[in-house]
Amino acid sequence: MTATVPQLQLYDTRRRAVFPFEPLVPGQVGMYSCGPTVYAPQHLGNMRSQLTPDLLRRVLLASGLDVTSVTNVTDVGHLTDDADDGDDKVEAAARREGRTAAEITAFFTEQWATDRRRLGCLEPDVLPRAAAHIPQQIEMIRVLEAQGHTYRIDDGVYFDVATFPAYADFAGLDLDALQATGRVEHVDDKRQPADFALWKLSPPGTMRLQEWDSPWGRGFPGWHIECSAMATQYLGDRFDIHTGGVDHVRVHHTNEVAQSECALGVHPWVGWWVHNEFLDLAGEKLSKSKGHTLVVDDLVARGIEPLAFRYFFLQAHYRQQQSFTFDLVAAAGTALRRLTLHAVAARDDVGGDATAGDSSRTEPLRAAFWDALADDLNAPRALSVVSTVVRSPELTAADRWSLLADFDRVLAFGLADAVVPSGSDESAEDPEVAALLAAREEARATRDFASADRIRDELAARGLEVIDTPAGPQARRRDGAENP
Ligand SMILES: [Zn+2]
Repeated sequence: MTATVPQLQLYDTRRRAVFPFEPLVPGQVGMYSCGPTVYAPQHLGNMRSQLTPDLLRRVLLASGLDVTSVTNVTDVGHLTDDADDGDDKVEAAARREGRTAAEITAFFTEQWATDRRRLGCLEPDVLPRAAAHIPQQIEMIRVLEAQGHTYRIDDGVYFDVATFPAYADFAGLDLDALQATGRVEHVDDKRQPADFALWKLSPPGTMRLQEWDSPWGRGFPGWHIECSAMATQYLGDRFDIHTGGVDHVRVHHTNEVAQSECALGVHPWVGWWVHNEFLDLAGEKLSKSKGHTLVVDDLVARGIEPLAFRYFFLQAHYRQQQSFTFDLVAAAGTALRRLTLHAVAARDDVGGDATAGDSSRTEPLRAAFWDALADDLNAPRALSVVSTVVRSPELTAADRWSLLADFDRVLAFGLADAVVPSGSDESAEDPEVAALLAAREEARATRDFASADRIRDELAARGLEVIDTPAGPQARRRDGAENP
């Protein structure tokens, strides 16, 4: 049984408020997500910008909407930060590793796509590469030039933000303050600090790995124009949702809006702008430039399954910063294994039939789950409903599986095919383990959680994990953990 998902209430960065989501064409949603720059591994913080649109897309699909999802790959490595200057990162990586630019970008595109899959993300419907859309970018720049929105200086063609009076509106920018803080890179001869490159000319006398002919000379496109050109190519002049990390609001998305609304003559270009907040690593922003490249493999190396990171992601609202520690993700992994254990037990009990269940018991919980997600994707509240479903003693196996199978359309933990975590209950064989488990239960019964946690840690030190099963708590050997 599946519920009617209530109308999604979704925050729009541009209007700075939550609005009921209405696509331009009833029943159909066009969605563009800023994807990876593929000259280096994509760290876990970047993956939050993949998990957020995946959650949104799955909620829209569960609502019965038809979604076209476009995610770009920035494989032209020039302007991958807000500055219009600086090294070409693809070229630098290629030179450093003695490989071609195409080899570098193919390698890191694959790494990113693999990690996305391991985190349970649906494949994008369209995955356009910037380097394969140079003519579309040139065409958009030509239109802007013909309309008088551009000017040329020695190193390229720039967008003149003075020709778009609404430039500061999108992000609520104070352009004078922007200039004062040096937030925008200084390039000699730019008319305003906020002006940005549309086309950069190859420096005279140099041979680049990636350069193309254009009406302005041999060179390469600016970063911002790729997203406008590819979104237009696959979603049309206007579309419903554009996603990205919150760090894109002030420059990249502001510039996308400016060039798109000018070139296409539309407003608003995009109905809903959805931005996810940062993932914090010990209070420090995960950033490639600081040398942190924490990737999914780092979780796996610590015995944490990748989907634990998806569970962890769902524990915070996408518009709130989330603090990362390995312990927190490991704890999410424990919660996920407990959920999986209960789901598999319920599923197998009813032979996989998700249509049974008593609606007087299931429907209030089903409604609570979908209401939470329809409330600007409140995943933490939805997860608390999942916990209730797992714990609630009055639910039957049929009730439980009817709910969890439905919820997994968005949770994406693969519950329909999951197998129970390996290992048997060690307390059945080892009296010492049995005594520890019993002591932990007693501590929990008297709400002495400090002792309960200490015993859990003691068991963990023996490579054992406490899993609460329908038959009571069990101590199971962790995958890969040796008997000491
Ligand atoms: Zn973009």
